[in-house]
Amino acid sequence: MLEGEENYLLDKARQEGMSAVEAEARRLGRSLPPPLDLASPVARRLRPMLEMYRLLTGFDEENPNAIFHHSVELYGPPCPKCHKPLRTVKAKFCAACGFGQAAMTSDPQPLVERKPALFE
Ligand SMILES: [Zn+2]
Repeated sequence: MLEGEENYLLDKARQEGMSAVEAEARRLGRSLPPPLDLASPVARRLRPMLEMYRLLTGFDEENPNAIFHHSVELYGPPCPKCHKPLRTVKAKFCAACGFGQAAMTSDPQPLVERKPALFE
């Protein structure tokens, strides 16, 4: 089960690469195991996210989609502004930074439905 903070770290690894995974391993006082042997090019491109998932959960997930779907279902997509999870796909604004809050009264739909282009 992924916590919100872990979801944030996965997104950080996806954006910043292996340096984010190495920094988290140092923070946890752990050393990284030999890299996963990834067959698919998509998985290799998303290696930092898979290695972060492995560091946090101990599970050798080789399918990036499994991680994306799992975290978005549980916590919503990352906020377009601060990149923290929206917590639910039904969020009307980002609870962490307030993104989307100003437009809420004129359009009360969930942020993902109000501005779908931001989440592609
Ligand atoms: Zn935000």
